[in-house]
Amino acid sequence: MRWSRYFLQTVREVPGDAEAISHVLLIRAGMIRRVAAGIYALTPLGLRSHRKTEAIVRQEMDRAGCLEVELPILQPRELWEESGRWARYESEQILFHLKDRKGGEYCLAPTAEEAVTTMVRSGVTSYRQLPVTLYQIRTKFRDEIRPRFGLMRGREFLMYDGYSFDADASGLDRSYRTQDAAYRRVFERCGLDFTVVEADTGAIGGTDSQEFMVLADTGEDAVVRCAACGYGANLEKAHAGPRPAPWKDETETPLVEVETPGKGGIDDVVEFLGITASRMIKCLVYETEQGFAVALLRGDLEVNEIALKHALGVEHLTLASEEKVEKATGSPVGYVGPHALPEESIRVIADESIRDAVNAVTGAGRRDWHVAGFVLRRDARVSEWANFAQARSGDPCPRCGKPLEIMRGIEVGHIFKLGTKYSVALGCGFTDEKGETRPAVMGTYGIGVGRTMAAAVEQHHDAEGIVWPLALAPFEIVLVSLNPSDEAVRRDADALYESLRASGLEVFYDDRDERPGVKFKDADLIGFPIRVNVGGRSHREGNVELLRRSDRSVRAMARADALDAVKALRAELASAGS
Ligand code: ATP
Ligand code: MG
Repeated sequence: MRWSRYFLQTVREVPGDAEAISHVLLIRAGMIRRVAAGIYALTPLGLRSHRKTEAIVRQEMDRAGCLEVELPILQPRELWEESGRWARYESEQILFHLKDRKGGEYCLAPTAEEAVTTMVRSGVTSYRQLPVTLYQIRTKFRDEIRPRFGLMRGREFLMYDGYSFDADASGLDRSYRTQDAAYRRVFERCGLDFTVVEADTGAIGGTDSQEFMVLADTGEDAVVRCAACGYGANLEKAHAGPRPAPWKDETETPLVEVETPGKGGIDDVVEFLGITASRMIKCLVYETEQGFAVALLRGDLEVNEIALKHALGVEHLTLASEEKVEKATGSPVGYVGPHALPEESIRVIADESIRDAVNAVTGAGRRDWHVAGFVLRRDARVSEWANFAQARSGDPCPRCGKPLEIMRGIEVGHIFKLGTKYSVALGCGFTDEKGETRPAVMGTYGIGVGRTMAAAVEQHHDAEGIVWPLALAPFEIVLVSLNPSDEAVRRDADALYESLRASGLEVFYDDRDERPGVKFKDADLIGFPIRVNVGGRSHREGNVELLRRSDRSVRAMARADALDAVKALRAELASAGS
């Protein structure tokens, strides 16, 4: 491909709304164009990398025995009513919906569980037809609250979505592991350094769930990792092992009231009494759909609300307002004490961090007073115990006790054991060996194609621009003619271009009438893995220059050797997986 006949314009200015480097670089390299918030167009160059990412996913899924289908993007409301998802997604306001001229309602699919389940329900009748995994790679629509980072969080984006149907849980386990393995190959081939973490299974009520995270500073998710044993979890799902307790080996002292005038916050009390926050017991009052609940945990820890929701078995959880705290506990905010709660009705759930607490400090149940010498076992009524404190960096790993680290990650893929929620709701059953009807056991899987491509840029760039992994580069090689108006240079560059193409190599030929400096900058910005320069002094000496983008190394060689040298470098990059 010759640049002079291609449609490609690089951009000098950084777009104002671009916070992530991948967003900046994909725009500047002329690969994507913003149309509206979360809506992007791909240029010919951008489409090539996008298609390569897509092709890797397709190849690995086909190789894993999954079957490609095409499900509608425009889906009728009735289908979503059947699964019960219409109301839920409507309340999260994530669904794009529209009406037809007759008043029929539709959504633009954010995923396709319903559509695929109805396809399988009308085709599968017997266990002999299972297992089957169907997938598609199609555009999805979500009215994201905060579309940003270019392709990373769009409102319209390309997604691989796969759905497995098995006869039983062990079958699902196999299908899930097949996806897991295919995902690993996909992200390895994309040249990504990723980590797999346990994820929360949320309200859908599945069992296992894993997210594939590309570690990067701009990642929107927090990932908890243990370098020692490999434990990894999304922060929402993570919990720490037992933390060293400040009251270890202490003996009990009597409960005493201490005056703390105007000191309602943990920090105030800590400073006023000269104690550490870990010696305090926090009492947080939450409102749930089942009434009030008081959560107790160590003063230096924060609540992981997802974990607390699960522990309480509730769907909605919000901190109660000041008036409601008083109403529920009879104490003003900041002075609630576990020993001073109304006996009946209110649920009291305590975090494992305070199970053995003695000589702790907590609210006295009245304004301007706290209590010291608090012994949880002796002084309070706890109705439930759970692990709902957020993991912090340095906390002990729940598996091996070594310190945890917290990093930022980009979720590029997700696998999820769904179970029978959709097959029950949509009546997707089959008859088993005994002739009994059972619902299919499902898994659901997703990979963001554009997000994966953007994540590759997050991990592979430098001050000059993108450094594409070979597998995702729009073109593997750029051939730069330094002075196309020079007859001899043009002749030799054209000849090399033809011979590279004839060898089946992917070459982009910068034959524009521009200064060499402009061309080098553009080549570096776009990030072609291999560059060949023809022209200037090296040309007069009968040579060309071969550059490797990743380490910016340059080698001169005789023109006659250029083709073989490019092939060798390409092979080297391919085998290094970069
Ligand atoms: P997130 O928490 O980042 O919103 P999600 O949990 O909604 O992701 P899934 O519904 O599991 O994501 O979708 C599967 C995959 O699709 C994700 O792992 C991600 O790679 C991709 N994806 C999800 N939302 C978007 C989006 N708005 N833009 C681009 N890719 C997305
Ligand atoms: Mg989302």
